[in-house]
Amino acid sequence: PSFLSGVEQAPADPILGVSVAFRESTNPNKLNLGVGAYRTEDLKPYVLDVVRQAEKRMIEADYDKEYLPMQGLAEFNEATRKLLLGEGSAAVAESRVATVQSLSGTGSLRVGAAFIGKFMPGAVVYLPNPTWGNHKNIFADAGVEWREYRYYDKATIGLDLDGMIADLKAAPAGSVICLHGCAHNPTGVDPTKEQWAAIADAVESNGLVPFFDVAYQGFASGSLEEDAYAPRLFERRGIEFFCAQSYSKNLGLYAERIGAINAVVNDKETAAKTLSQMNRIARAIYSNPPVHGARIAATVINDPALFARWNEEMGEMAGRIKTVRAMLYDNLCKLNPDKDWSFVTRQIGMFSFTGLNPNQVKHMTEKHAIYMTGDGRISLAGLSQAKCEYLANAIVDSFT
Ligand code: PMP
Repeated sequence: PSFLSGVEQAPADPILGVSVAFRESTNPNKLNLGVGAYRTEDLKPYVLDVVRQAEKRMIEADYDKEYLPMQGLAEFNEATRKLLLGEGSAAVAESRVATVQSLSGTGSLRVGAAFIGKFMPGAVVYLPNPTWGNHKNIFADAGVEWREYRYYDKATIGLDLDGMIADLKAAPAGSVICLHGCAHNPTGVDPTKEQWAAIADAVESNGLVPFFDVAYQGFASGSLEEDAYAPRLFERRGIEFFCAQSYSKNLGLYAERIGAINAVVNDKETAAKTLSQMNRIARAIYSNPPVHGARIAATVINDPALFARWNEEMGEMAGRIKTVRAMLYDNLCKLNPDKDWSFVTRQIGMFSFTGLNPNQVKHMTEKHAIYMTGDGRISLAGLSQAKCEYLANAIVDSFT
């Protein structure tokens, strides 16, 4: 016996566990639509051309491997908040944004959660129902209480705006409202511009603190501007907020763990103090962030030619996903014209929320070797045109 023999086996992660099961399958038709990672038409991982170019320049520049400061690489921090808030941002110009480079979206959310736990005692975080599988984990791990607000309407396969606004209005002032900046995961259902305005009204009149999670800027629509619409709207309206950013998807830097946590506040002094405390949190957890991904992102964002090429590549990735989305829709309509499949093409981003229940998902995996999360979400980034018909068949078969 070991002094640790009382430790119980942890449950498999609902998203990462799918990849483990996929790797173990020997079925030649197997398809991994679990984890949200971009694949080429040959279903191979893709390293962006701009990333390779930036890495070449970095090798030529012969950088050292010294520690970064706690808040990360200065050029990156400057670039990332501008990318988020836009060139004309008043908050950026007035130094009202505290930015800490952190470990991709997850680590940035975790630092933000720790900050809330420490400096907003008693504040509850409201998460959309449903939400990305790791949100609850992250806030719970930081000791921050979370609740849910209504978001997705099963009946319309769309946004339950009235339910959402009612729940925001019922939340106590000072509560934190987690908002997916674009391409809501897992539903692919985003508010329209008018709906964002109504959400901003409710946030403002109720004294709530938004916490944007921007994991797909430029990757959802192909446009950095369009995908940053919501946080930019809130900034223009003078609403203070947190925002976590990730470069996993839009730069394909999944394993480099590059992202940032920002606090957009009303005055420069508060931003400086907030930054100092976020640094202190980072210091205690991991001291300072890794440099490689930060140099890549800063090089690509700050060089006009690389920046232009990056926008093209994001357009290509988003375009490939839109193509398979349309193809899947066509195949579903052909196989079962009696069902309304229009939700497939209405949804935004890399996922489709199919409405398959856990038993039907089990059928998808056991009979058709299609690996997906139990909530009925499929990653279209892991689908090729050649596999659309196979997938449509499996979906129709599992629904019946
Ligand atoms: N938030 C959301 C909504 C996501 O979908 C993801 C990625 N699946 C993340 C955060 C974070 O991913 P990463 O830590 O790789 O940036």
